[in-house]
Amino acid sequence: MLLSISLSNLVQVLGNNLNQCININDNLSVCGINTDSRLIRPGELFIALKGENFDGHNFVAVAVNQGAISLVTERPLSVIFPTDIPQLQVKDSLKAYQQIAHWWRNQFTIPIIGVTGSVGKTTTKELIAAVLGTYGKVHKTQANYNNEIGVPKTLLALTSDHDYGVIEMAMRASGEIALLTDIVCPTIGVITNVGTAHIGRLGSEEAIAIAKCELLAQMPQGAVAILNHDNARLLDTASRVWQGETITYGLEGGDIRGELLDNQRVRVEGMIFPVPLPGRHHALNYLGALAVAKYLKLDWGFLTQGISVDVPKGRSQQYQLPNDVLLLDETYNAGLESMKAALQLLKDTPGKRHIAVLGTMKELGEKSTELHREVGSMAEKLGLDALYILVDDPEAEAIARGVTGIVTQCLGTHEELVETLIKVVKSGDRLLFKASNSVGLNRVVEQFRQQY
Ligand code: ATP
Ligand code: MG
Repeated sequence: MLLSISLSNLVQVLGNNLNQCININDNLSVCGINTDSRLIRPGELFIALKGENFDGHNFVAVAVNQGAISLVTERPLSVIFPTDIPQLQVKDSLKAYQQIAHWWRNQFTIPIIGVTGSVGKTTTKELIAAVLGTYGKVHKTQANYNNEIGVPKTLLALTSDHDYGVIEMAMRASGEIALLTDIVCPTIGVITNVGTAHIGRLGSEEAIAIAKCELLAQMPQGAVAILNHDNARLLDTASRVWQGETITYGLEGGDIRGELLDNQRVRVEGMIFPVPLPGRHHALNYLGALAVAKYLKLDWGFLTQGISVDVPKGRSQQYQLPNDVLLLDETYNAGLESMKAALQLLKDTPGKRHIAVLGTMKELGEKSTELHREVGSMAEKLGLDALYILVDDPEAEAIARGVTGIVTQCLGTHEELVETLIKVVKSGDRLLFKASNSVGLNRVVEQFRQQY
């Protein structure tokens, strides 16, 4: 079954969001929903969304030329495009998009897994999809389509070919996960953890925990919560808002308890599973994926042979260079928890010297300096061999503040950093690159790889 909806059905789905119908032909059906006029295919409905930097109403003509046969708009069409094309004029076209996505999702009875948390959403989503992919056909969030626009887009691509849906749900402020949960109606809700990401906006870890747990509070009856046992704040907050079925997973305890054997193997219930990505944090995420499979009563047995997972760029990527130099590319993003996890992974990666190349963790608000200092002290405590810091912003300098026990150097530009690394890196070195995406440390990785 591919998406198809009649205009009369659409009218019902939109309910009191609908202001007026113009030229509506009840028998007409659209065969897809699109908000990007360039990607419209003949027979589809175009929804004109309005954002801070764009207004879909300006692209109605493009959409119609591309073959759109009906429109959802917030402004009367005659003002924007003189045509007799059927138009549903609504109060809020983003809400309309979400209403249609929710309606479409409800056409399916397959397990839909919603994944949220401060860190590890994408990797856990990929791990769950990889595990479920060994049993059936999985539909999963692509790229970064994890917000109020991306989630509906993801749901609208569900088809009757799919056996499972794995949906990443992200937030920047409270209330957002509740909204996404209402749209997604997950039958399984996974929360990877509660940490400090977006603490600048939310104010405290407690507020972040409550915001993540909106997933549970909003899940439909009969849904199950799958929670990271090792995160005390998560368990505590969850217990206050969720009384339904719960499965916990962890390396320290939980219903699905794993014992970490080494960087990439975990023992669970007497079986040894290769973890598709290296590091303790990914072993933990993988236990979440195993918990989902267990709840769905899927046989774990052949997962002991190992599975592979899609690794999005800049996350847990490794590059082997000449002279046995290994780069760990974690340049896609950074927060305190993922910094700590990555530093630990660096230390646990066998090699001669362990070097961290770090930059700012953005959006940490008032606590920013303190959290950057925490990263420096962890690098020192782990006994890394050297710390190179790209100071694109004064916050990054705080990583170096107070670090005395290891070689530490702050560099002002990407170019200086590359030049320095080229001079200091020796055979057998292990290097971790990590900062928030906007720092552009990925360029340093690229240039270093080209020049080394
Ligand atoms: P975003 O908010 O950008 O969508 P995300 O929650 O999807 O982030 P990922 O992209 O999966 O998170 O991972 C981001 C970083 O966090 C990566 O560096 C990854 O290695 C690290 N990470 C993943 N899982 C964990 C975990 N359980 N604990 C700590 N760090 C983790
Ligand atoms: Mg993500």
